[in-house]
Amino acid sequence: MSNTHITGGTAITNPEQLRNIPGIDIRQVAEVHAKYPMRISAYYAELMRKHGQALQKQAIPDPLELYDSDGMIDPLDEENLSPVPNLVHKYPDRALFLVSNECAVYCRFCTRKRKVGTSSMVINDDTIRQGLDYLKKTPAIKDVLISGGDPLMLPDRKLEEIISQVRAIPSVITIRIGTRIPCTLPSRITPELAAMLKKNHPIYINTHFNHPAELTPEAAHACALLADAGIPLGCQTVLLRGVNDSIDIIRDLMYGLLRMRVKPYYLFQADLTKGTAHFRTKVEKGISIMEQLIGSVSGMAIPTFALDAPGGGGKIPITPEYIQHIGESFDFTTYKGKKCSYPNVEIND
Ligand code: SF4
Repeated sequence: MSNTHITGGTAITNPEQLRNIPGIDIRQVAEVHAKYPMRISAYYAELMRKHGQALQKQAIPDPLELYDSDGMIDPLDEENLSPVPNLVHKYPDRALFLVSNECAVYCRFCTRKRKVGTSSMVINDDTIRQGLDYLKKTPAIKDVLISGGDPLMLPDRKLEEIISQVRAIPSVITIRIGTRIPCTLPSRITPELAAMLKKNHPIYINTHFNHPAELTPEAAHACALLADAGIPLGCQTVLLRGVNDSIDIIRDLMYGLLRMRVKPYYLFQADLTKGTAHFRTKVEKGISIMEQLIGSVSGMAIPTFALDAPGGGGKIPITPEYIQHIGESFDFTTYKGKKCSYPNVEIND
């Protein structure tokens, strides 16, 4: 795919294009780029220039990516959980179907850094057919998460071909699309795309914004097109050191998402992906942010803080500790730290 085909202008794919950004060592970027792909859409590059570090860290290769001795290549054990190429069947009723190996921006913290944007992620008509066949013969799967890479990097016609075939499987109830396009390339969301998706309801979209600076008028317009097509929008944010690991940033982000008709869904503890150690926060950081959110902002603005267990164990929610004791009374602390008790009895008729 050419630089300008779907990326809305000339994307940054060569370290030399970063020469004018202060503080960037082109030689070091090139070393990282030799191992991990780089693409920054023209739109996101402009945003990055305006807002600096928090956005640059997400998109510009960092030498620290090469000095991560503890990280795991495939932290969620996706390859072992794939009965056919590019389809992960981890939970009984859900499947993750990877249909694109490209993204508008290759996020430096990506969980699938091992393959997204590289030649080792082979997606073609044959892998798509194998995925569809598996979904057809596995009626326990009710919910299909179409992801990648970014599925919205596919042309409308190709995407429609895949989605309509998933929709035609009687046992599939919901189709979810995981995409960062409303954040990284909002002009890709067109009335035509929204109309095509609308034909295949129930469709849900989980998008991915990490910083309030990403909530631009263009992003809001893209989300409005999708919401007006009746698509419920959620956001999966990753907690990233030096990008959004503060209560003020997360609070602004969550409220800003609601303003764009996007419901905060997950706040993820970063995965143990090799090459991303410099982004990880301690778990206590996320718990502290959740403690400060709960009770002080609208429940609509509160995501579930979760960790995806290494080795394919699945997501677990991590909540601040409120419960003190459960017996004949249920003892707990309120969000303000005040002790409280609730009688834990059932009265017989
Ligand atoms: S958009 Fe998603 S799949 Fe693509 S690089 Fe970013 S995190 Fe990874």
